[in-house]
Amino acid sequence: MQDCLFCKMAAGDIPVSKVYEDDTVLAFHDIDPQAPVHFLVIPKTHIASPGGITPENSAVVAHIFEVIARLAEDLELGNGYRVVTNCGRDGGQSVPHLHFHVLAKRSLAWPPG
Ligand code: ADP
Repeated sequence: MQDCLFCKMAAGDIPVSKVYEDDTVLAFHDIDPQAPVHFLVIPKTHIASPGGITPENSAVVAHIFEVIARLAEDLELGNGYRVVTNCGRDGGQSVPHLHFHVLAKRSLAWPPG
């Protein structure tokens, strides 16, 4: 999508601090980290939000969770981590391209604000 920040990152048009990349997903460090480890995992194809996941495009979501599990091992997140996705205004979504936050290396409170 032309004016989408994360589509531009996925296309390599905007530099990212890359954690992982393959044909369908990209993981990069969050620019405003909320924990000692905070990276985002996105599908390279544009899905606007969790509400845009359909039977036709959901395979990449399963793949994202496989990637997160592998990265958690590689980054030694054995004490635990949190995966968060925000949907829409009330959900706190500010970038309209599906992304999963992975936060770790501190104790995370529940419920979120
Ligand atoms: P929120 O901004 O409330 O966390 P989102 O769930 O939409 O809402 O998360 C967007 C995330 O994208 C934020 O954590 C923000 O810091 C991150 N972000 C925005 N621009 C960039 C960028 N250029 N590089 C890396 N991360 C970014």
